[in-house]
Amino acid sequence: MEKTERLLELLDKAENVAAFTGAGVSTLCGIPDFRGPQGLYKQPDAERIFDIDWFDEDPSIYYKGCAELVYGLKNYQPGPVHFALAKLEREGKLKGIATQNIDMLHQKAGSSVVYEVHGSPILHHCRRCGDEKSFAEICAMLEKEPVAHCACGGVYKPDITFFGESLPEEAFEGAIKLASEADLILVLGSSLTVQPAGSIPLYTLRRGGKMVIVNAQSTPLDGSAALLMPDLKEFAETILDRR
Ligand code: NAD
Repeated sequence: MEKTERLLELLDKAENVAAFTGAGVSTLCGIPDFRGPQGLYKQPDAERIFDIDWFDEDPSIYYKGCAELVYGLKNYQPGPVHFALAKLEREGKLKGIATQNIDMLHQKAGSSVVYEVHGSPILHHCRRCGDEKSFAEICAMLEKEPVAHCACGGVYKPDITFFGESLPEEAFEGAIKLASEADLILVLGSSLTVQPAGSIPLYTLRRGGKMVIVNAQSTPLDGSAALLMPDLKEFAETILDRR
């Protein structure tokens, strides 16, 4: 049986579908991933950009490294995988998305149940006084200065989870509940190497649900998948053409 036919069969049989997405779903929109062949981690010192200790020591590492990666996100539009998942949600098949992405593109495509397990830059908070600013306000500040400073002298940090910080509790618990209740989980464009987020699909497997992995590179959970597909575009087109 063709992989696309098998995908449709698995979707037809499932009643409660969850999705887990990673940076790969947004490479189709022109946003680079971290661990793919053109990924950010091919650059020296890339791991410092999202490290909380480095942020407090020298926030310019983050603001310089993310001038395009985060503050350029306003210029990107959702791609075929985002639209395919929004369609599945409208049809009542998909109950929600747990995403590692910080690009806000699932919401832009029309998905309403989205658990951002690594946070989001939609809000920023001052590290010293806790003052809150929106993404748009920080973008405006960055047109005048290279690092977004608060009036109190502190520095604004995005609500993205940095290495050294714990995950946002509400989003992570929502993602675990979503995966625990699913009879099928679609794992899309993730290397599944960042923990604990990479273990979310295990909650579906533990309750006897099935897993589809769509990724160009192999992942640690490939052996447990009911279906492996290498191409996210083919996956999305299959869903978008499905009646
Ligand atoms: P990752 O970079 O570790 O893995 C992405 C995977 O997607 C790779 O294995 C790559 O082979 C695959 N991929 C890329 N394009 C593909 C395509 N067209 N078809 C099939 N597979 C494709 O990403 P991750 O697992 O999400 O973890 C990286 C971390 O970095 C996450 O925590 C995430 O928050 C963050 N991140 C987010 C964004 C974003 O928001 N768009 C971008 C980069 C990194």
